[in-house]
Amino acid sequence: MDNMTRKGHTMPERDPSERISDFSEVALGIDEERAVSEAKRCLACKGRPCTAGCPVGVAIPEFLALVAQRKFGEAYETIRAANSLPAVTGRVCPQERQCEARCVRGRAGEPVAIGMLERFVADRHARSASPVPEEGKPCIPEDGKPCVAVVGSGPAGLACAGDLAAMGYAVTVFEALHVAGGVLVYGIPSFRLPKEVVAREIEDLAARGVRFVTDAVVGKTVTVRELLETYSAVFLGTGAGLPNFMHIPGENACGVFSANEYLTRINLMKAYEEDAETPVYPARHVAVVGGGNVAMDAARCARRMGAEVTVIYRRSEEDLPARREEIRHAKEEGIAFLCLSNPVEILTDGTAVRGVRCAVMEQGEADASGRRAPVQTDRTFELGADCVIMALGTSPNPLVVRSTPGLTAKPRGELITDEGGMTAIEGVFAGGDAVTGSATVILAMGAGKSAASAIDGYLKEKYGVRAASQT
Ligand code: FAD
Ligand code: SF4
Ligand code: SF4
Repeated sequence: MDNMTRKGHTMPERDPSERISDFSEVALGIDEERAVSEAKRCLACKGRPCTAGCPVGVAIPEFLALVAQRKFGEAYETIRAANSLPAVTGRVCPQERQCEARCVRGRAGEPVAIGMLERFVADRHARSASPVPEEGKPCIPEDGKPCVAVVGSGPAGLACAGDLAAMGYAVTVFEALHVAGGVLVYGIPSFRLPKEVVAREIEDLAARGVRFVTDAVVGKTVTVRELLETYSAVFLGTGAGLPNFMHIPGENACGVFSANEYLTRINLMKAYEEDAETPVYPARHVAVVGGGNVAMDAARCARRMGAEVTVIYRRSEEDLPARREEIRHAKEEGIAFLCLSNPVEILTDGTAVRGVRCAVMEQGEADASGRRAPVQTDRTFELGADCVIMALGTSPNPLVVRSTPGLTAKPRGELITDEGGMTAIEGVFAGGDAVTGSATVILAMGAGKSAASAIDGYLKEKYGVRAASQT
């Protein structure tokens, strides 16, 4: 460590006036000199508090030391030992609440920019590596090798599939959509996470023998029980894609969308292209209801589609749950915030949205979350808008539970598992948002990895067999 500056290096970003007219990435990435200099700010603390703050336990001081020595390939391998999607997490992890929140350098200055360095190492590796995708391995139970079906190709499914493939199992991933990647492709916009980054990770898995079957809705195209007839174990990483609504008058009007639908139209179906087959509703003033990352993503997409945008949030501005960086970016891009406001009615012209009536909220006593509870007053005001996007959280889709006798779920749809991640059905495991409800990429990935290890243990115990690479 030889960089004692209190201020860390920052990520260069595109100018707001330029970036609001396209969907290209906002953060530009850093060069080698900046990366090495930032890594040299690390004190190599013995207790490794930063690693304790990382949900998957990345060996942070070790990878930073390797960056400082310009051993970028080894730094990549060090991160990959715990984290299968570093190019993704380096971009979207809430680092400021995780690894960087625990960094000792943050006590008297800025923490080491761990996420920025993780992204640098992963991107540098991607530029130097050229995986050659092979045909996916067919699943052939007759060869004695146990094979696993992974349902859902979000971070939980990808991490589970990657670890099982590395152990030598034949893995087939079933994905309902026509593209693999889960929220990473249909939810998080490309100006935060370019789609090539996710595609690279999927190509890498395919090159390592993982087979992907898209347009396969488990519960409709094939059931979990049917999968169990062919596969020795099943992992359910089906996420939490069912949007919540407010159930207020006017919510069924033309021009009201869930953030999931709006984002899917833009990110997956490329509604910003002129000849898009799945366009978005044309709107001049969009109101986005909610204050999390999903709300910020929807607001920033609507801005790029040419609308004036207002975010409506029922608590105070300090309570906005979105990442600080996303709130800053949204404000820089000209998005307005109406906090302590709660929609009570969507105003319509009989068919389409013309505005939102909101109640003024006040702050009450602290609630279970530790934040002051929003208390509704009888004062209201109207905001003009021709489109309203509801970004109020999501729940797991009930399709898999309803189509699988014996599978159990909580009242809001989260699948119930034992400590090892096995559901009420033997051989069927689950993890990620499908179990926890809407959470984060890194937590879903961690759940996928734990499930892979539990599935390995289960298959060994049940069948006494070993995967190909372990014999
Ligand atoms: P998902 O990513 O939801 O993947 C589940 C997959 O399963 C999907 O591809 C789905 O199509 C498929 N599927 C569902 N049902 C079936 C079925 N019956 N058959 C076959 N396939 C099925 N987290 C962060 O850490 N940082 C962020 O900045 C961030 N931003 C976000 C922005 C948005 C807009 C959203 C929606 C979420 C964001 N999150 C963020 C949360 C994070 O993306 C999720 O926690 C994470 O993706 C969950 O991973 P998962 O694998 O459990 O589920
Ligand atoms: Fe930090 Fe996320 Fe990387 Fe862990 S995975 S070191 S929390 S950026
Ligand atoms: Fe380095 Fe910060 Fe971790 Fe200490 S806490 S080892 S300074 S990254």
